[in-house]
Amino acid sequence: MEYSEIMVRYGELSTKGKNRRAFIGRLQGNIVKALHQYVDQLTIRPKRDRLHIELNGTDAEPIMDVLSHVFGIQTFSPSIKVDKDDLDHVKQVALELVNATVPAGSTFKVQTKRADKQFPLDTYGMDREMGDFLTDARPDLQVQMKRPDATLRVEVRVDGIYLSTETIQGAGGLPVGTAGHATMMLSGGIDSPVAAYLALKRGVDIEMVHFFSPPYTSENALNKAKQLTAKLTPYVGRINFIQVPFTHIQEEIKAKVPEGYLMTIQRRLMLRLTEAISEQRGDLAIFNGESVGQVASQTLSSMAAINDVTTMPIVRPVATMDKTEIIAQAENIDTYELSIMPFEDCCTIFAPPSPKTQPKMDKARYYETFIDVDALMKEALDGIEVTEIKVGDEYMNQQQDIIAELL
Ligand code: ATP
Ligand code: MG
Repeated sequence: MEYSEIMVRYGELSTKGKNRRAFIGRLQGNIVKALHQYVDQLTIRPKRDRLHIELNGTDAEPIMDVLSHVFGIQTFSPSIKVDKDDLDHVKQVALELVNATVPAGSTFKVQTKRADKQFPLDTYGMDREMGDFLTDARPDLQVQMKRPDATLRVEVRVDGIYLSTETIQGAGGLPVGTAGHATMMLSGGIDSPVAAYLALKRGVDIEMVHFFSPPYTSENALNKAKQLTAKLTPYVGRINFIQVPFTHIQEEIKAKVPEGYLMTIQRRLMLRLTEAISEQRGDLAIFNGESVGQVASQTLSSMAAINDVTTMPIVRPVATMDKTEIIAQAENIDTYELSIMPFEDCCTIFAPPSPKTQPKMDKARYYETFIDVDALMKEALDGIEVTEIKVGDEYMNQQQDIIAELL
């Protein structure tokens, strides 16, 4: 079928009262960014209840694929616009659409909405005209008002009649950016990419902070974290990837801190650095992929001993999820395969054989004084590199091929 437009229904934002305009504006901006490749051919019209994307002859399929990743969209429907003065023609096009999209033997109904009050038929009259015609032409269809398999939606607007049979689930959530900016601690593991996805889904625009320790960690480990970031760009368009050199800090900690506290002090330094980066960049919170009780560093006492270094809000989107739930989500967003690739992380390399699961706050504070925190932090912050990773980045695709070959 050649569709004329895609009608987008807003998600949660419809209930946000006077913030509505800002939300719709942001969603429109995000849709334009996501569709940048096609935007010259499209006309995008945001309205109070819906947003209309006029296709002007562009194929609907790739556009819908992009839209399914944009947060703040509840559902969308490809629709065909027909002239409302010729009812026979409306019926004919409706039949073509139903033939193309509604399988034989389906239960079915017509549902009319009338924005144009001048239109001669009311919604009931239009339902009946269309319904009678279609069931004559398609005797296999059974009319059923409650929960039919298929619904032909007929919208009578001032500029024409819009017909649609499909309602496609959008990504839900809130438009990215409406909830402000935050810093996301991204490792190469399974949990933090899922946490990043959930942050974006709640409208938080994130920047990735990734600690790496060459030569103990390889170029592949760094690329893997960038790849994971690339996997999330369809939801937001572009993400800054901030890589922080962590080698010297880890070596110092390893040399000077008692073994039971290696992990706790390393984490405290990661968090201190993330806070400093957040503040520099005007971000409002830190997100991470910690899950309560999953490993030694994620017991509540451990979290307390690590969290001690900052008063910035730390949000842990996967804190209460089971590992199996996190994995299922990672599979949904297609990060799982990458996450399980066996490239060493900076934390595993310097992990003590038996880290304290119940570290004491005062001991953590004391052992941290064994290293020169300020000087080490300054050195790491001076060595930061920022890469902007964009959706559809050629370079990232090449890197992905390289990693695939290594397997
Ligand atoms: P993940 O699967 O996200 O790596 P994990 O279960 O392996 O999580 P840890 O390695 O203990 O957990 O890390 C807990 C959290 O600390 C991570 O989810 C991430 O937010 C942060 N983190 C760990 N390592 C790094 C790193 N190298 N760079 C940035 N953040 C990190
Ligand atoms: Mg990890």
